[in-house]
Amino acid sequence: MDHHNGTESNGTEGHQYQAGKSTHRDIDQWKHRAPYKIHENSDNFPVKWKGRCHCGKVEYQLSREKPLKVKYCHCTTCQRLHGAPFQWAAIFHKEDINFTNGVHDLGWYDPTEKSTTHHLPCKVSCAYCRTIIMDEGRSMLLMMPTLIEGINTKEGREAFKSGCHMFYQQRVVDFRNDGLQKWKGLEGESEELDDDGEELNGKQEQK
Ligand SMILES: [Zn+2]
Ligand SMILES: [Zn+2]
Repeated sequence: MDHHNGTESNGTEGHQYQAGKSTHRDIDQWKHRAPYKIHENSDNFPVKWKGRCHCGKVEYQLSREKPLKVKYCHCTTCQRLHGAPFQWAAIFHKEDINFTNGVHDLGWYDPTEKSTTHHLPCKVSCAYCRTIIMDEGRSMLLMMPTLIEGINTKEGREAFKSGCHMFYQQRVVDFRNDGLQKWKGLEGESEELDDDGEELNGKQEQK
């Protein structure tokens, strides 16, 4: 028995893995892995927040009181896909989420390939009402705080307070005197900008 199961897993999943290419393989695998793995009641998943899409077919729980990080993303892809001036994204580990409803009612969109296959990073939406539930990255999730119950309370606003602006150069709205760091592209990997979108380093050199 033992030598049939690789290091990958045990039971039927390991068997499927060894069985090689099958049209069902990918479909079966994503269900058993975070963030789509359903937690049993016995798992003691601590529920700190609950979220749902507009139609209510997709519902989830979050086990972390505060996101690891929160950002506003002003990139044009987020503007277009969200139909909003910018994306408000809260970063969580893939293990922090438990879908209580509708894990099979999700649809994927990979903006890089413009494909609806489950290729990371991708946008994850309710297949019925099309609410964007999250961005699934290779190792992290970017949750959309506006889906979360109680987000419009003092506690909610405080827990999901943004730490910075990304891709601020592509913005369609200005943010002034909010005290948040503004980045030309990705946080920490691009030039830092002032409220007007001018590079901070360039300004300092002129003085
Ligand atoms: Zn929905
Ligand atoms: Zn973006």
